[in-house]
Amino acid sequence: MKIYNTFTRKKEEFVPVTAGQVGIYVCGPTVYGMPHLGHAKSYINFDTVIRYFKYLGYKVKYVQNITDVGHLVGDGDDGEDKISKQAKKEKLDPYEIAYKYEVLYFENMDKLNVLRPSISCRATGFIIDMIEAVKQIIDKGYAYVTDKGNVYFDVRKYKAYGQLSNRTIDKTLSGERIEVADDKRNPEDFALWKSVDENTLMQWPSPWGQGCPGWHIECTVLSKKFLGKHFDIHGGGIDNLFPHHECECAQADIVNGCIPMNFFMHNNLVTVNGVKMGKSLGNFITLPDLFKKYSPMAVRYYINQFHYRSPVDFNDEGLKLAQKQFDKTNELVAKLRAIVDKQSNIVDEDLVAIKNNFESAMNDDFNTPVAMAEFIKLIKLLQNELKNQNTNRLEQINTLITKLGEEVLGYVFTQSGTSPVEDIPGDIKDLAQKRWNAKLAKDWAVADELRKEIEAKGYEIKDSKDNYQIIKK
Ligand SMILES: [Zn+2]
Repeated sequence: MKIYNTFTRKKEEFVPVTAGQVGIYVCGPTVYGMPHLGHAKSYINFDTVIRYFKYLGYKVKYVQNITDVGHLVGDGDDGEDKISKQAKKEKLDPYEIAYKYEVLYFENMDKLNVLRPSISCRATGFIIDMIEAVKQIIDKGYAYVTDKGNVYFDVRKYKAYGQLSNRTIDKTLSGERIEVADDKRNPEDFALWKSVDENTLMQWPSPWGQGCPGWHIECTVLSKKFLGKHFDIHGGGIDNLFPHHECECAQADIVNGCIPMNFFMHNNLVTVNGVKMGKSLGNFITLPDLFKKYSPMAVRYYINQFHYRSPVDFNDEGLKLAQKQFDKTNELVAKLRAIVDKQSNIVDEDLVAIKNNFESAMNDDFNTPVAMAEFIKLIKLLQNELKNQNTNRLEQINTLITKLGEEVLGYVFTQSGTSPVEDIPGDIKDLAQKRWNAKLAKDWAVADELRKEIEAKGYEIKDSKDNYQIIKK
């Protein structure tokens, strides 16, 4: 099995630190706003990686942090804490904001059938460990304390800086607009500990005065705490490669005495209609909004058609097609499971080939587009086989759908054969039910009237043989 490693910019053979086990750390969300498209892509990508390791029989320990302190607006060392800023906006305190959005994050990930991590850890729960790590970095001569009570990592002392992002310090300086705090020795130094004013709610005592940790130190500390000094994979978004992951590596090298992760995996980002998504650009799409139009499984189906290292462009055309394809798949699986409920060993040559091709694709740096193509091939086969009703063959197909479609690709198939889109208003649901009843009673005129009424309210009805679906137009 080969995985693309950001350290070497190459696909490398995966050899676990401990045979049969995988330890993986993925940077979790900063909980200050609604989960959005970017979260869907990122965490589905890593969920599929974790699912595949489990499918292969590995014992997986998956650690994900919740950043509830220390992440400043602009990702640097100056500016307001993202959570405190949102707290003022919503007139709540920062702890309330963090918990509110943590709950929303998990609720939305559950809808996408993203498995919960083995360990979810909040940064605020491990301040003592972070202070210990900062002390060690100071003691080893790689950090300094300023008279303002800040602690900075001395980047020029650490010669390997840039090993992950391939940046030299000069490149960093010319490429980035760095706001330089006036107590830093050098502009590229980054905060390990920040002093805060007395009105800040999130603050803790430290040897350097009241303050809070810098953003990067949490991932260094939490990965070591739960996965040890040396583990298999660290994952995260390509937008965090620099400075976050570069700084994490530097700190970890000092604290652990080695670079802890064998592989650093980065997933690519999302665009909306070809444009970068951003709050200021007016194209920011939250998951609750997205799920009003498309079912979470259709979103997952869409994302799986792209490689995790490729960007995903969200547009209505693509998502509508994914919705259609997923619904069709769902309908066929429901029909299959109305006939067979057992699993069989895969022996038929064509089905063995699908399984092998699927696994080869996944073994090649989790190539989900190719794996999806094999899965689609399987569903086409199913469509034909439903006509023949050969039980053993259908049981084999059922087994592959369970293993490849559900276990690895993470789909949830419903018995009714439809995948509900959320938050359809009650009056629309009532009209749709009335229309369905009219249709069953062959009262075509009434059914037609009701369809028009529903359409006038902005919804469409899509019929399948024995069910219907409501879609927001
Ligand atoms: Zn992180």
